[in-house]
Amino acid sequence: LGSRQFQPEDTIIGLPHSIIGGDHFTMMAGPCSVESEEHVKRMAKVAKEGGATILRGGAFKPRTSPYSFQGLGEDGLRFLREAADENDMDMITEVMDDTHVQMVADYTDIFQIGARNMQNFSLLKEVGKTDVAVGLKRGMSATIDDLLNAAEYIASEGNQNIFLIERGIRTFDNKYTRNTFDLGAIPVLRKLTHYPIIADPSHAVGEWDLVTPMANAAVAAGAQGEIVEIHDDPEHALSDGPQALKPKTYLEMCREVYAIRKVM
Ligand code: PEP
Ligand code: MN
Repeated sequence: LGSRQFQPEDTIIGLPHSIIGGDHFTMMAGPCSVESEEHVKRMAKVAKEGGATILRGGAFKPRTSPYSFQGLGEDGLRFLREAADENDMDMITEVMDDTHVQMVADYTDIFQIGARNMQNFSLLKEVGKTDVAVGLKRGMSATIDDLLNAAEYIASEGNQNIFLIERGIRTFDNKYTRNTFDLGAIPVLRKLTHYPIIADPSHAVGEWDLVTPMANAAVAAGAQGEIVEIHDDPEHALSDGPQALKPKTYLEMCREVYAIRKVM
């Protein structure tokens, strides 16, 4: 269902405040986690100022350690919804468990399926039964075909409002970057599938000063949007502080990305 042979023309996903796919370029930004009502509302204003039309933020966090901050749960969903609404934005948030799909759907415009859940087939099928848009992240050890097959699990249940997110993969050398950004996957995916391809330079590199160059490279490679983590006090962020862009750096990144986009 996702192949260009099956559908030659690009999938375009329409949301109340955003369009994803085709010739559109969509900026998504926000904190890694929803940390508090006032923090996410402050970050929403920054995201919007940079041109983002979609606010990101995790309320259910897939942390490597069970002792790390796990998210605010349903309160976090409510805070993110309010922050998005107050700024005329759409929201994307991670759903981690098939039993949460209906509850998260009550709040969000887009389900994020995290890298760790890319092959959680019961979760994929459950979001496939809804008509809520899905941002599917590439698993950290997933091949391009694995990613496309994961998307098929969603589409085959009836939901074709899917976009794919390249967020870096594990390789033999992840000493200086959190993951290895598979830039080549972007044009390859554009060729193989009609689904929109979005880049996540934040998780790909894991260090804030490497995010802008990779965001720029992703646009040049044909990414139809970016999803970026921002924070005004990264040293005290409850998750992923080292990769968060401070507001000023985020706004500079946006200017560069749009400038490159313009000459494409
Ligand atoms: C996130 O978006 O904060 C996240 C956990 O991403 P990933 O699933 O790509 O690691
Ligand atoms: Mn994160």
